[in-house]
Amino acid sequence: MASWPTVAPLIARAGRALVVEALRAWVDERRGTPEVASEAACVQWCVTRLDLFLKPSQRRVFNLTGTVLHTNLGRAVLAEEAIAAAVEAMRSPTTLEYDLEGGARGERDDHIAPWLCRLTGAEAATAVNNNAAAVLLVLSELAAGREVIVSRGELIEIGGAFRIPDIMARAGCRLVEVGTTNRTHLKDYAAVIGPDTAAIMKVHPSNYAIQGFTKAVAAAELVPLAREKGVVLIEDLGSGTLADLETWGLPREPTAREAIAAGVDVVTFSGDKLLGGPQAGLLVGRKPLIQRIARNPMKRALRLDKVRLAALEATLRLYADPGRLAERLPTIRSLARPAAEICAVAERLLPAVQAALGHDATASVAEVRGQIGSGALPVDLLPSFAIAIKAKRLDRIADRFRRLPIPVIGRISDGTLYFDLRTLDDEPAFAAQLDKLHVVAG
Ligand SMILES: *Cc1c(COP(=O)(O)O)cnc(C)c1O
Repeated sequence: MASWPTVAPLIARAGRALVVEALRAWVDERRGTPEVASEAACVQWCVTRLDLFLKPSQRRVFNLTGTVLHTNLGRAVLAEEAIAAAVEAMRSPTTLEYDLEGGARGERDDHIAPWLCRLTGAEAATAVNNNAAAVLLVLSELAAGREVIVSRGELIEIGGAFRIPDIMARAGCRLVEVGTTNRTHLKDYAAVIGPDTAAIMKVHPSNYAIQGFTKAVAAAELVPLAREKGVVLIEDLGSGTLADLETWGLPREPTAREAIAAGVDVVTFSGDKLLGGPQAGLLVGRKPLIQRIARNPMKRALRLDKVRLAALEATLRLYADPGRLAERLPTIRSLARPAAEICAVAERLLPAVQAALGHDATASVAEVRGQIGSGALPVDLLPSFAIAIKAKRLDRIADRFRRLPIPVIGRISDGTLYFDLRTLDDEPAFAAQLDKLHVVAG
């Protein structure tokens, strides 16, 4: 069978091993079937199977969920500058750990640390695989075998099994909880500091808000206490932006610079949340502490590769020119996109979407509220516009959009399928595939 002339093009496309696997599967499938199959039928069957083999598993999609930084959809979309830097690093050897001037070994952190220090005001900086790794590393270097104090209002779980108490245990620390769920006072922290206390940790309550009768102690208020008692003050900022989001009319998020200015000893935050870069965990703070963290053997296991470091360096460089960030950084561009502009996109696309849906469903333009996502303020607050679809079998319509060549992911709520257009950055590609909506199986 593998020598049939009609099979040769399949081998050219997919390689002999996969074609043989497909042919075997066909034979297995037909075992016990009496009628004789044609060569053409066999080849056709194999083509379908090979298409499945060759289709990439991780694919580009349109994120029209209304959540700009969607963890399941890969969080931040990178800037062109970061993409170009990453591509170049992938293609060639680089100065990853090489000092060109001295012709000797260099440090991989040297590519990003000066930028992080400039942008946050910190003395030193380092980077690891993600913020979860950054938290694990800082705790295990600075507090293993000792106590770390955390407010009960900040014992968070963020998705994917990252829970502060578990991370503490993994890092070999003893968690000391203080205060209550809704209220924690400075005196609560002061009361439990003892000879075994290594650190106080503040955690940004990323994905929930405690409202009403509440009290939390700001990092700035904890600084004098930590200094007096000789314990380290750590703050996990989660999203931790490097820019002042209010510039673009967005809600305030704590910046890493503010935490450093307040006197926090080590601040950790993510690279692919509000920062808009590749997945990374960034640690900034006092030099002796960052040096210890960077020398921890676990740092070697959690370090970044040259591709992400290249993308991160290019992303950080964009922050040197905040005036152009909204133009160059897709995360900020999406977040700052005016509602009127999004409304215009919705109105432009509506006729084509309705035409593609036919009589199965009705589409209209709806005012909606989106989210930043990934632990920035967990409330719906980005005024936006969506194409809203109503139909009897809404799940089938959603399924058909997901089966398009570039799958379209929306959000169903209150019996309506919403496609929030804030994050639609390629309108022509979206429109061009709508005519396939009626042919994709639903
Ligand atoms: C998101 C988040 C983390 C984990 O960051 P990753 O980069 O996803 O590993 C840790 N802490 C807080 C407060 C967060 O919001």
